Amino acid sequence: MGANAASHQPLPSKGGEKHSINNFLRDTHMKVAIVGAAGRMGGRLIQAVLEADGLELSGATERPGHPKLGEDAGQVAGVGALGVTITEDLAAVMDEADVLIDFTFPEVTLANLKVCAAKGKMLVSGSTGFTPEQKQSVAEYADQIPIVLAPNMSIGVNACFKLLKETAKILGDDFDVEIVELHHNKKKDSPSGTAVRMGEVVAETLGRDYNKVANFHREGMCGERTKEEIGMQTVRGGDIVGEHTVYFIGMGERIEISHRAMSRDMFARGAARACRWLEGKEAGLYDMQDVLGLN
Ligand code: NAD
Repeated sequence: MGANAASHQPLPSKGGEKHSINNFLRDTHMKVAIVGAAGRMGGRLIQAVLEADGLELSGATERPGHPKLGEDAGQVAGVGALGVTITEDLAAVMDEADVLIDFTFPEVTLANLKVCAAKGKMLVSGSTGFTPEQKQSVAEYADQIPIVLAPNMSIGVNACFKLLKETAKILGDDFDVEIVELHHNKKKDSPSGTAVRMGEVVAETLGRDYNKVANFHREGMCGERTKEEIGMQTVRGGDIVGEHTVYFIGMGERIEISHRAMSRDMFARGAARACRWLEGKEAGLYDMQDVLGLN
């Protein structure tokens, strides 16, 4: 399929009229580009796109100066040569692609969104660590193009979000809520985007403002725990892919809802699924709960 959204849609302007990208994608392969192709998630994403029905890898990028620039994306990912060269020219890559998968960092994602919006292309992003202002900027781009943004693309974690809501509804204010997450020693943001989302889900269900009740630090004579606070603790070390536990602690009993990621593959498969799901969608901001039909 040589067509792309830019050639079928008038170029949108930021904050402009909503439009959907797509009927032309139906019954064809969606062309997918991957940014950060040499990263920890990049390789898994290349594999997931190769394995997914209806998706085709059309481009791959890395940051300027990256040692893997100019190499074959498939070779770098360890899946064999694919004839897709890793480049730093995202604009050229997006001329060929229908959708960009981006697992990078908030400032990089926002720069990538600018390119996608200018070209009328869709975006699936798993980047984490957005500030409220950066989330607002993403939402503004979603006026122009369909975007899936999710701090965790695994089905298991998204099932946990649902379970947390139900559990908090049943237990109400009688149980203290604490969240502990563990990740590898290269992770840049803390707490993880998944832990933050878990805290938000519980806080929203209990009618609290996460930004006011999240407690990230206890040290010295910090006083008794308040009833409303949600403790957020992080552990960093080695190669832990990602583990999250939400504790609901009552008098004489405790519920723990835990998720452990054993590999990065299910995040990548979730991203591939999100690409297919975006087909035919209106411009807007979606998450994995939408993709999985859990909303
Ligand atoms: P990583 O550092 O291994 O990979 C990021 C890659 O992006 C690197 O290769 C880096 O060189 C590249 N990059 C940086 N700037 C770039 C630019 N301007 N253009 C092109 N490439 C650029 O990190 P990672 O462990 O793969 O994680 C990436 C992000 O994905 C993090 O925010 C992490 O929290 C998130 N993540 C999300 C999920 C999820 O399910 N949503 C799962 C795992 C990780």
